[in-house]
Amino acid sequence: MAYIATLSKTKEILEEFGLKAKKKYGQNFLIDANIVSKIAKYACDKDTISVEIGPGIGSLSEFLALNSAYVYAHEIDESLLPLLDKTLEKYDNIEIIPGDFLNVDFEKMPYFDKEIVVCANLPYYITTAILFHIITSKLKIKRIVIMVQKEVGDRFKAKPCTKDYNALSIILQSRFDIKPVTNVSRHLFYPAPKVDSIVISFERKKEPLYIDEKLVKTAFNMRRKTLYNNLKESYPQDVITALYKELGLKDDVRAEALDLNTFAKMSEVLKDVV
Ligand code: SAM
Repeated sequence: MAYIATLSKTKEILEEFGLKAKKKYGQNFLIDANIVSKIAKYACDKDTISVEIGPGIGSLSEFLALNSAYVYAHEIDESLLPLLDKTLEKYDNIEIIPGDFLNVDFEKMPYFDKEIVVCANLPYYITTAILFHIITSKLKIKRIVIMVQKEVGDRFKAKPCTKDYNALSIILQSRFDIKPVTNVSRHLFYPAPKVDSIVISFERKKEPLYIDEKLVKTAFNMRRKTLYNNLKESYPQDVITALYKELGLKDDVRAEALDLNTFAKMSEVLKDVV
């Protein structure tokens, strides 16, 4: 079977539709069927409802269709829609949803009330925004398997007191077990990006730690400010002062010094405070 994910097929398809990879949408297409198959097999099984962000010309979508029960794929680039109709025509278990994934109202999506696996070769320019969008949604996410720039991948597991420890890494670590799946050389893409990539898996924890999004976002709002000065913009000062006393926090502590458990304790108190 001739898969989409080869260099010759990718060039042939783009030429047939008179298209070029668009930088503004972060288009770098996977051209190695082995790696694509590995990602899809890791992410899903025959019962999985998969949600893909950015099917491109269908390289990963094809393997998601082969390995899942059903695939919903969100593509922003309208010029790819007729192309995807053709490249994925033999799969009857995939639906392309046109539009910007960042503007999707999940409650209106056909997969909203189902358990899903999110799988994507993410456009690098919006990796963080996309991750925030899905993890702070009400979606029932079992697992996220995404390809990101190698150095971005290392940041998700950042520990306190490091520069990469931030609102996103804290929320991710509190809700998911994070594991590298495989490194992917830049040469397995067309066109080749300037950096290598890594596939990371986020497996929903059986017992996630509750950490309030508003709290962590506020805590890291201005990194150079103390935690207190950031929090006082959004929470009553008497509540913060009482919390500092209860948790034994120093007045000049910064958000990056607090571990996940401390954020969880603060969340319990602050979650209902407006
Ligand atoms: N999945 C394909 C593959 O692995 O070869 C393409 C991956 S390419 C790195 C990223 C894809 O995401 C492109 O198809 C691009 O048009 C799409 N994309 C970029 N921004 C998007 C957005 N905001 N919403 C939906 N799709 C987006």
